[in-house]
Amino acid sequence: MPRLASLIESKLPEETVEMLRTAGELAAAGESGAGEAYLVGGSVRDLVLGREPNDPDIVVTGNGPRFARALTAQIKGEVTSVSQFGTAVIQSPQGRVDVATARSETYSSPAALPEITPSNMEDDLKRRDFSVNAMALSLLPSNWGELLDPYKGFADCARSRIRILHDASFQDDPTRILRSVRYEVRLGFSLEVETAEVLERDLSYIDRLTSARLVAELRKILEEPERANILRKAEAEGIIGAISPSLRVAESGLKTMEQLDSADELLYLACMTSSLTEEEADAVIARLEPDREWQAVIRGAAAFRVTASVLESADLLPSDVVELLERVPVPVLEFQRIAGPRTRQRDHIEAYLRRHREIRPETTGDDLAAQGVPRGPVMGKLLHELKTAKLDGKVTSQQDEFELVRRRLPILLDRERQGTDQPAGAAAP
Ligand code: ATP
Repeated sequence: MPRLASLIESKLPEETVEMLRTAGELAAAGESGAGEAYLVGGSVRDLVLGREPNDPDIVVTGNGPRFARALTAQIKGEVTSVSQFGTAVIQSPQGRVDVATARSETYSSPAALPEITPSNMEDDLKRRDFSVNAMALSLLPSNWGELLDPYKGFADCARSRIRILHDASFQDDPTRILRSVRYEVRLGFSLEVETAEVLERDLSYIDRLTSARLVAELRKILEEPERANILRKAEAEGIIGAISPSLRVAESGLKTMEQLDSADELLYLACMTSSLTEEEADAVIARLEPDREWQAVIRGAAAFRVTASVLESADLLPSDVVELLERVPVPVLEFQRIAGPRTRQRDHIEAYLRRHREIRPETTGDDLAAQGVPRGPVMGKLLHELKTAKLDGKVTSQQDEFELVRRRLPILLDRERQGTDQPAGAAAP
């Protein structure tokens, strides 16, 4: 096997190399709970490809968490979490280091979480997703930098291809289907021919994934700089449709995504789901069961469509625009500001996002309470009227606001007493 010691030494920061050497020496000393110690996974792949590696992952035979504690006694850092699967996380001044116990995995049924047993390094590499991620570099001083590559990941790196390790790989864990596109695009690789056939055959196994795992994979895609190309490819290959037949990623949304420099996840999600109808959004939400913010954004395109034509009217007051746009999540409006037509609606969105969204009356609920206004619906209506008046330029100082309160309070109280209330905002100040 080739020795890639020079790659470790030339491509990794000096402190990381020191830490890895210490890990190897510690394992070799034999009192740390570990027999062998390896650098594994993405960082080995990236070293082989001459790319900047992420935070290092270490795998040891023996007891990973015990080894992690022993390692932190020798380097600056602390173990911040330990899992029941024999993994530990070290936070050190150089960043995060993941330490795991070498293990084998067996899947009782497709897409189930695997059963885990401590094992040797070969088994640990066997459980991995693709050959390029199934390489390890020894950290022991006796064979420092020696490559362990039972699945020929090195050759696949040279041939720029993503290859699964066995025929049932995508069935065992269908998240690998999404992972494969992510790596293809990120690395500029292609699927090896048989892997591509198996992927097509096993697309329907995506159905068996839990919503939480699906959302986690989508999040990882949205984190990638090449997110738009990954989604484009996933759409073209039927992977998006396999998540939910209602999920469509439109080219227009992807084009907008590509124009964004560094936006947050929700704006990327707004681009990704910009073409969904209300029914489609509901079906996607039923499949993904995402958190409330994601739900609002996924429904946002349909919510915006309802208001879009109204936004073209010439005689809208700022308060009308605020009332319309408050119902649409901000990331969806940001998407529309970039992607929507250059008509009046865009001016309204811009004014709302830049100024009107933040406008509040100077008078607060506490101020009103201090003037004897009871907390409850009347106070809510007064605050709403104050905000409307301020947005539309009808009050410009706190004095004006007090004047408005003085005029409106008796009327609102009277209405409340008689039970002839109108909806908030219906009465002009
Ligand atoms: P990168 O995204 O650059 O690969 P990473 O190495 O931190 O970064 P992770 O997703 O944390 O990527 O995975 C670490 C390693 O664990 C992978 O290189 C792979 O060997 C293995 N792995 C991760 N997910 C799976 C999976 N679903 N099936 C099999 N192996 C996996």
